[in-house]
Amino acid sequence: MEIEIGNRKIVLFSGGFDSTLVLARLVKEAADNTSVCAVTIDHNLTGTQKLRREYESQLLILRELRKQYPKVKIDHEVIHIESNWISGESYNSKGLAQPILWLCNIIPLLEDKDTLYLGYNKDDQAILHETNIKNLISAACQIQEGKIINTHWPLKYFSKTEVLKTLIEEFPYLVDFCTSCEAIRYEGEKVCGECLPCTHLKEALFNLTLNNNEVGEKAKEMLKSRFGIRVSVAYETEEEKAVEESTEEEYVKADN
Ligand SMILES: [Zn+2]
Repeated sequence: MEIEIGNRKIVLFSGGFDSTLVLARLVKEAADNTSVCAVTIDHNLTGTQKLRREYESQLLILRELRKQYPKVKIDHEVIHIESNWISGESYNSKGLAQPILWLCNIIPLLEDKDTLYLGYNKDDQAILHETNIKNLISAACQIQEGKIINTHWPLKYFSKTEVLKTLIEEFPYLVDFCTSCEAIRYEGEKVCGECLPCTHLKEALFNLTLNNNEVGEKAKEMLKSRFGIRVSVAYETEEEKAVEESTEEEYVKADN
């Protein structure tokens, strides 16, 4: 598929909740016959099971989006990297922080006037370095033929809870395909429940169970299906109370 050069909307897409929301929003807002490009950096730092699971997620999410928005062209570029570097986090010195790996590999692909969308939410370490990352991209693009690149961080004021809530409300058909566990055990599609992304996901879902609506119900369902956790929240509206009382009355009458 031919991708128009320049003026492209490019999303760094992992198949997780954050980048899925960014991609889905862009596709939803795109005019007919325009294109959105999802770029996945496929590296071997996180283990083959996670990669396999993520790749499946990406394909399923893209398939659903193409079904829902057939007039928008959604391109998917997968960049495969072989590297022996150790994966790490930006706040320690254990290895290569993921944003650096992603940016190093995407910068050469950017063309003048492209816009790069990053799905970091307000709790991600990368957000603390937003200005530095922007400067880094712009300096690198200056060296690369003086290209001017815009970056957008649409989730920078969103918590994980808000990301999930929005995804459930606006794109309920995508939520179940998203994956985030860092230590996925492929057999039976089980997540570990203990890594940082699993912890953040559980916390966000617990927050959402307090909603007495379809979002709360979906959160409970996800806690059960992903982590085997059953949640029951005692919550009764006046309406429900009235229904319950009238049923009880009828029952009493029928009994007599
Ligand atoms: Zn996990």
